[in-house]
Amino acid sequence: MFSTRRDLKVVVIGAGVAGLATALALKRQGAGVVVYEQAECPGPIGAGVLLNEPGLRALAEFGLRKDVERLGKQVYRLEGSSVTGKLLLDLDLASINASSLGVHRGALFQVLYEACHQAGVEICLGKSVSALSDIDNKRNLTVIADGSASQLRSVLTGQGGNEYKWGALWAAVPAPYWPFPDVLKQVYSGANKLIGFLPTGQADLVTVFWSVRLDMAEAAKTSLDWIEEAVRMAPFAEGLLRSLNSSDFVVARYRHAWAKVSRKLTDMGIVFIGDALHSMSPQLGQGANLALQEASCLARSVSDGDPIWTAQAALRDRARYYSRLSRLLSPWFQSDTPGVGAIRDSVAPLLGSIPAVRREMLRTFAGLKTGWLS
Ligand SMILES: Cc1cc2nc3c(=O)[nH]c(=O)nc-3n(C[C@H](O)[C@H](O)[C@H](O)COP(=O)(O)OP(=O)(O)OC[C@H]3O[C@@H](n4cnc5c(N)ncnc54)[C@H](O)[C@@H]3O)c2cc1C
Repeated sequence: MFSTRRDLKVVVIGAGVAGLATALALKRQGAGVVVYEQAECPGPIGAGVLLNEPGLRALAEFGLRKDVERLGKQVYRLEGSSVTGKLLLDLDLASINASSLGVHRGALFQVLYEACHQAGVEICLGKSVSALSDIDNKRNLTVIADGSASQLRSVLTGQGGNEYKWGALWAAVPAPYWPFPDVLKQVYSGANKLIGFLPTGQADLVTVFWSVRLDMAEAAKTSLDWIEEAVRMAPFAEGLLRSLNSSDFVVARYRHAWAKVSRKLTDMGIVFIGDALHSMSPQLGQGANLALQEASCLARSVSDGDPIWTAQAALRDRARYYSRLSRLLSPWFQSDTPGVGAIRDSVAPLLGSIPAVRREMLRTFAGLKTGWLS
């Protein structure tokens, strides 16, 4: 059981979405909270993410939804087509009364970081934690939120996870005349070429992502020799694509990991959260959303006095569906296995034409699923 909140001394490792949101929620409950972050100058690396209704609802609980919405852009549809122009996926969120928000990771980070400061969360920068002995032991709850390559997950659970062979180059660039201001657009050519565009709010930013094999990622970032291919796949974005520079891009790597947290660890007051608990490829765009929901869920467990083991199990259950499905789907969108793209291009429109399946696809994209049947 958690002790009374006033007695609760919390250490959070990692000042990402999961760590900051948890720190804020617990501090607001009256706990003493210290965050350790390895970066000297923290800030997100990367471009835009898509927040869905459950993620936004968690932000509302922290009193931050409006601040984030002001900085983002409403996105109502996912449109995925083949290079020949055939529509493969057309998920209209409005048809299930849902929507999402495209927002720069920097904007989300800034809102959470400032709220933590205002709430009085102590944030220690430049402090890398690779073992529990690195932090003071005057704590009764340790929240491990050090992201997808979590060192503590490896040390404490032996689960390092597997890095995908494929990642992406991504950039957020101004595009004031972007013709699809409320659509997440993707174009696929086979399974080894994918270009995507996500409206990202603030100053009419659009996030561009190009799928790339990691062993070629740095060369692709430097040479930008794929731009011609990208223009061929997405001629509607020619002006934008030709304006891009190598320095606009960051290489994104993904990892699949699932921390098996033992009862012994939770009995020591240790909880894993966010990518440290379940890192996944971003095919379904759920990682940040889950991190926000888990922060809210953990804070509720603390408030209700639940045992830590129960709290940890609840976080795991919430993420299981998306973790498994993202692993299943990734090779259909990012791999160099011959024929995979052609099968996907035939099957996806068929699945989308079956009303019950289509509804499940929409609910998955909207972040509303908690299990295969729920
Ligand atoms: C290309 C791409 C697109 C994505 N798109 C989406 C999307 O559309 N929607 C969505 O919901 N999610 C998306 N995600 C996933 C989302 O970004 C992550 O799931 C989310 O950021 C996880 O948050 P986190 O706080 O768990 O980890 P992180 O944000 O990685 O934060 C971890 C923090 O811990 C710190 N840290 C690491 N090691 C240590 C250490 N030893 N000591 C102290 N501090 C440490 C790091 O510096 C970092 O600040 C995407 C991810 C990628 C790569």
